[in-house]
Amino acid sequence: MYSKNAWEKYQDIDIENVMKFSEGYKDFISKCKTERECVKYSIKLAEAKGYKNLDNVKTLKPGDKVYATNKGKNFIAFIIGSEDIENGINILGAHIDSPRIDLKQNALYEKDGFTLADSHYYGGIKKYQWVARPLAIHGVVCKKDGSIVDVVIGEDDKDPIVYITDLLIHLAADQMGKTGSKVVEGEDLDITLSSIPAKDSDKDKVKAYLLKLLKDKYDIEEEDFVSSEFEIVPAGAARDLGLDRSMVMGYGHDDRVCAYTSLLAILDTDKLERTSCAVLVDKEEIGSVGATGAHSIWFENTIAELINKLTSYNDLKLRHTITNSYMLSSDVSAGYDPIYSYAFERKNAAFLGNGITFNKYTGARGKSGCNDAMPEYIAKIRKIMDDNNVNYQTAELGKVDVGGGGTIAYILGNYNMNVIDAGIPVLSMHAPSEVVSKADIYEAYLGYKAFIKDIK
Ligand code: MN
Ligand code: MN
Repeated sequence: MYSKNAWEKYQDIDIENVMKFSEGYKDFISKCKTERECVKYSIKLAEAKGYKNLDNVKTLKPGDKVYATNKGKNFIAFIIGSEDIENGINILGAHIDSPRIDLKQNALYEKDGFTLADSHYYGGIKKYQWVARPLAIHGVVCKKDGSIVDVVIGEDDKDPIVYITDLLIHLAADQMGKTGSKVVEGEDLDITLSSIPAKDSDKDKVKAYLLKLLKDKYDIEEEDFVSSEFEIVPAGAARDLGLDRSMVMGYGHDDRVCAYTSLLAILDTDKLERTSCAVLVDKEEIGSVGATGAHSIWFENTIAELINKLTSYNDLKLRHTITNSYMLSSDVSAGYDPIYSYAFERKNAAFLGNGITFNKYTGARGKSGCNDAMPEYIAKIRKIMDDNNVNYQTAELGKVDVGGGGTIAYILGNYNMNVIDAGIPVLSMHAPSEVVSKADIYEAYLGYKAFIKDIK
C-alpha cells in the first residue's frame, strides 16, 4: 500500500504484534549504545536462532545459517539460499554507529574543584542539545597486557551519571545572542566527572581521587585512556512516546532501528531461494571510512569466504555474485515534522506511520554524492511491497537546497549492484533523543522480509 497510514489497516491482533515487536526493539536500543554492544547483542540473537560462526564452519550448503564479525564492530548474518550464489545475494545493510561525544585520548584534567574530561564529538550534532542532561559512559579500555575492560556507567538506576554543564540563563546574555552553532562550542563539551578531593595528594587532588576510584573499580590507570574508546551517550532506556504509545523515543534510532529490523528480518526467515544477508557497519556518520566502515574490503572478503565454503572459489564468481546482488540500504529518513514544515516539500516527505520509506536518492545540492536508484529496480520493489501488503512511501531529505545527507547506498552501488535507501522516518534526527513510529518499525521489518524473499 503506497503512502497510506498503516495504523488504519491494522486489526486489534496487528496492533498487538506491532506493540510486541517494538518491545524487542526497545530492549535492543536501550542496551546497545555502541557499535560493539550492537555486535554482541546481534551474536546472541543469531546464536539463539541456530546461527554458527562462519569461521568455525568448513563447508556450507543451502539452508545453512552463519554469521561473521569484524573487529567487534561489524556483523553479518547469512541464510544460504537454494539458488546458485552467482545469481546474487539479497542484502540488507544498516549502520550501527550513532552521533555521540567521544573522549579525547588525553582527556582528564582538574579545574577549579572538578575533574573534567575533554571530548571530541562524533558525527553531525547540534552541540547545544547535549548539555544539561544525564549522560552515560560506554566503552572499552584496551590495556598493554592485551586485556580489554568493558565499561558501562550510567544505565542502571543506581548508577551515577555524567554531565556537560550549560551557562545559567541569568548570566547568558552574551551566549543567547550567538548563532546556534556557537551557543555551545566543541571545546566546551567537556564532561563533568567528579568533585571529591583526595586527602593524601599534593596537587590535582580531585583528579587523584577519581583515578584511585578507577584503579580500584576497573584496574585502569590514566595512561590507559590512550588506548581506550569511551563514548558519552544519553543515559537511560528508550520510552514509549504519546498517550497512545504509538511512538518510541530513544537514543540512536539512526540507524539502529534499521539495523534491528534488518537483522530480525533475516533471523525470522527460515528458507530462501536466493542467499540473503543483513550486514551491520560502523563509521557511517563520519563517512563510512576505515576498516569497519562500509568502504572496508571486509564485506567483499566475507562474501569470498562464503563462496569458498559453498562451492569452488574463483574471482569471476565473486564478481558475478556481487554485481548480481540487490540491496536495501537500510537507513532512516527525515520524518515530516509539522512544526518545521518549512523544511519539507510535502509531496515528497516521509510521514510517521506511513511505513517503510524509499529514498531514490539522498545527497545535497543537486543530488551530489548520492546513489540514484534505477527506476526498473524501484518498479520491482513496488510490486513486492504491494504483493506482501506492506505500507511504503517515497521521500527525499527535505526541500531542494535546504540541506542534505548521505548513506552507505552509493558504496555498494559502486559494485554495480542495484541499491536503494529504505528505512524508517525519524523526528529530531541526531538529537540525543530521536522519535520513530512503532507502525514504521513493524512495516520496515515486514518490508525487509518481503524483499529478501521476493526480489530477483
Ligand atoms: Mn543513518
Ligand atoms: Mn545519521
